[in-house]
Amino acid sequence: MTLIAGNWKMNGLAAEISEIQSIVSGLANYSGADAMICPPALLLPAAVKAAAGSALAIGAQDCHAEVSGAHTGDISAQMIADAGAVAVIVGHSERRSDHGEQDADVLAKAMAAHQAGLNAIICVGETDRQRDAGDALKVVGSQLDGSVPGGNPDNIVIAYEPVWAIGTGRTASEDDIAAMHDHIRNWLASHFGDAGQRVRILYGGSVKPANAAEILSVPNVNGALVGGASLKADDFLAIVAAA
Ligand code: PEP
Repeated sequence: MTLIAGNWKMNGLAAEISEIQSIVSGLANYSGADAMICPPALLLPAAVKAAAGSALAIGAQDCHAEVSGAHTGDISAQMIADAGAVAVIVGHSERRSDHGEQDADVLAKAMAAHQAGLNAIICVGETDRQRDAGDALKVVGSQLDGSVPGGNPDNIVIAYEPVWAIGTGRTASEDDIAAMHDHIRNWLASHFGDAGQRVRILYGGSVKPANAAEILSVPNVNGALVGGASLKADDFLAIVAAA
């Protein structure tokens, strides 16, 4: 089933749990897609409570690769699972650029997520300079090589997010999305065989109610990772409805 996952990034105070409550109520009208919200870590317990018993899954935005230890300010995958979340985003381009995360770090985080029983939403995507140089497919292929754990892929989701499309209002063309998602599908099939066909590939980058149906109809687009438009329940639900 299509997955619409919302990434709240560093947005949301306790009052915004009301948006989660509205999403939970609104989801009762839609059964065509799985829905997930990834709020800031401090809101995880309240979000899990608000979504309890509903179709809304709760995920986190990052985890440390270690289970515990001297890592001031970090949170582990085990802590995220303990809070009741079911997934964690790893390798978001903002983590890669703001915190210098490399593919090996992303791989270690994805493996930590799996060890904690979480699904890992592994983000990949090229910069505009890399796309302009004609290197987009090569860059994403290399990120997949370095960031995706081997073994059973049933607990991974790949999110293709061209860096230049995140939070900019620009989206990739349907042809470019189709070519990249086909490339990712082939990579998954060559690494995981038939199981690779089942892995969901999300598109992310300025997805909003006005363009969601078009993007979600592109072959091998199995959902969306949504930033800005996931902050308001009405917008998020409109994207779920478009799936
Ligand atoms: C994101 O944060 O992953 C994202 C795609 O953001 P936006 O939808 O705001 O571009």
